[in-house]
This record gives sequence, C-alpha cells and structure tokens, in this order.
Amino acid sequence: METRESRPPCAVPESGLNARRATPTVWVGDVPVGSAHPIVVQSMTNTDTADVDATVRQVAELAEAGSELVRVTVNSSAAAAAVPAIVSRLDALGVSVPMIGDFHFNGHILLPGHPDCAAALAKYRINPGNVGTKKWDAHFAAIVECAIEHRKPVRIGVNWGSLDAALLTRMMDENAGLAEPLAADAVMIAAVVESAIESARAAENIGLPHDAIILSAKVSAVPDLLRTYRALAPLCDYPLHLGLTEAGMARRGTVASAAGIGILLGEGIGDTIRVSLTPAPGGDRREEVLVARQLLQSLGLRSFEPQVTACPGCGRTTSTFFQEMARDIETWLRERMPVWKESHPGVEELSVAVMGCVVNGPGESRHADIGISLPGSFEEPSAPVYVDGEHHSTLRGDDIVPRFITILEDYVQRRFGSD
Ligand code: SF4
Repeated sequence: METRESRPPCAVPESGLNARRATPTVWVGDVPVGSAHPIVVQSMTNTDTADVDATVRQVAELAEAGSELVRVTVNSSAAAAAVPAIVSRLDALGVSVPMIGDFHFNGHILLPGHPDCAAALAKYRINPGNVGTKKWDAHFAAIVECAIEHRKPVRIGVNWGSLDAALLTRMMDENAGLAEPLAADAVMIAAVVESAIESARAAENIGLPHDAIILSAKVSAVPDLLRTYRALAPLCDYPLHLGLTEAGMARRGTVASAAGIGILLGEGIGDTIRVSLTPAPGGDRREEVLVARQLLQSLGLRSFEPQVTACPGCGRTTSTFFQEMARDIETWLRERMPVWKESHPGVEELSVAVMGCVVNGPGESRHADIGISLPGSFEEPSAPVYVDGEHHSTLRGDDIVPRFITILEDYVQRRFGSD
C-alpha cells in the first residue's frame, strides 16, 4: 500500500502562468510595448488638459508613482494647443514619460489642425466608435495619416459603451437571419472584436505600419472582458492593452481589475495595462498606478519594489504593534526606493516578512530574504530575525522596529550595494 513516505511528489508545472502571446514591438516614445518587453503600466489624467499647470502636475505625479505611459484627453482646440507646452514643461522638470493623446469625435480636426500637438504626443488613441458614422472613412483616415506623417503609433481602443453603431446594427441583423442566432451579448462581444480588427486592417490599408498598432477592447464586466480578449487574441498579433472600462470605485474597481486583468495575464494575454479606478472626490489619482504595479508584482511578472509579506493577524495578536510594524517597514522601504533604485540595482527583488506569532512566523521569515517573527499573545516577548533562511538574532525591548530596520539596511547594503 502507498504510504505518505512512499508516495511520489505530484507533477508541478514549471510556471503558473502561460507564455506571453507573441507580438511585434511597438515603440511608444522610448517605451517598447510587446511580448519581448515587460508589461507596461499606464494611467490617465483627469485634469482639464487645457490647464497646463494642473496637467503637468498630475502627469508628473503619475510618472513618479510608476506610470510608464500617461494618457491625456485631447478634446478641444485649447487642449490640443496646451499639449506641446505640457510636454516641454515636463521635459524641463526632467519627467520624460511618453504622453498619449485620447481622441474622440474631433481627432480628425484637432490632429491635422495642431501639428505641434501631433508631434509632441508619443501615441494617439482612437476610438473607432467615436470617429463619426457618416464620414467614418474620411475621419479615420485623417487621424491615421497624421500618425503616419509624424511616425507615431496608434491604439485602436474599442469600448463597448461607444461601439460603432453601424457595425453593431449590421451584425445584429446578420445574426437575426441565422437559423440559430447567438445571444445578444455574444453578438455585442463579437462586434467589439470585429470593430478592433476591422479598424486595424483599415489603418494598415491607409499605410500605418503593422508594428505601429496596439489594440484594446474594453468592457465593464469581468466575464465579458475574458470572453472579449480570448476571442480577440488569437485573431491578430498586435500588442494588446488590457483594462476594464468603468471599473468602479476603490474596492470594486481594484478587485474587478485584478480579477479580469490578472486572469488574462495568466493566460499570456496583454502587453500594457491600466487599472481604471474612479477616485473618491479629492482622492489620489496615483492609486490606480500603485494597484497596477502591485498586480504585476503579485503575479511575478514585474518587480518594482521590495515585497513585505505580513500575516493577517488573528486572535494570537492582541495588540496593533505588529500591523504598525508591517506598515512602517513597507513605508520605509517605499521611501528608500527612489535612491536605492539608482544605487542598489536588484533591490526591488528583496522580500521581507513581518509575522505576528510563532505559528507561521519563523517558517515564513525563513522563506523571505529577511524576516522577523513577533511575539504573539502569551509568547515570550522576543522577536527572532532570520536572514537568508538562517537565524540571525533575537530582538527584545521597545526598539525592535529601528533595530530591525538597521539589520535590513545592512543587508541591502551588503547584498545590493556597489561597495
Ligand atoms: S502567523 Fe500567527 S498571528 Fe499571524 S495569522 Fe498566523 S497564527 Fe495568526
């Protein structure tokens, strides 16, 4: 009989994630997008683009938070006229993040009418549903010709809230004539996919290079997002931008985006992401960037900053000391990163554990590069520290946090410092 000792280990796959779907590289300014490159984090301002001061400030904040591309709305002549000033002000501040212009309804007028704006932007986003139904071909061609003239890539960003009405009507009519018609939601998703593919083909026919096109097809519900991208991905090799449209406010938007984007990334689909969170009034726009980065880091797809593993706490932790310590360590690491990024390459791979008691504390701390296991209720008031899996020291007293930080700083210096 098979026993626990004799049973062979189960088969474990190499990686929990599928390989990235192969795409060409699209250059957005100096940021490469595609399967040969890291998945890119992007975000979008919510300032009036015509307000140069406010927009410069927010683009700089988003870039500092880690947004590698920033989109701004270009919805009026005043907004288009402001774009070159925004880019040069950012240059003067040393912020080199590529800026993307978001065009709806009047891009065919604004781009040719504001060549400095067309030149200053690193990419144009076109929504094929908002190009104009009567003169779709001419309006679409005007934008694409501008992209060709200025050698800029284009994202064809379909959104089911503004789907090309003529295309949807045609596909609904065709579906109604079938012996076994599809459900309306399936036709809607097929129309979103068709709009993206058809528009990309139209852009290439006008002369836009194949490697100057990125596609997105955003919907607002996670299951529909999965259906849409699983249908779209096998039909083309353009890099894909992922995101839920109207993801919602903080908790809902974060969870829905993590679920939808995370599943697709796990399947190897997606080359850039945006987590579209609705900020609370006066809320911090940078939150969507931090969520996007954490999503990529949690999946093991990118490393941005050291990760702090902390247990959730339970009845064994009766004080808030351990939560405060986990928060303080995380804040301290984040504040050190701008300097460490330059001076201590590789430090973003560091893992730190802050654990609440002896149950999982020593084990989890040994798995981390450096970890501390705090005393739970009724445990001896001592905190063993582990470094590279070995017991390093045991801390006691009121100054556990600063002493742990000193050990941490020494470790970072020794492992990642240049001297
Ligand atoms: S490590 Fe200890 S304190 Fe933390 S959740 Fe587990 S049992 Fe609770």
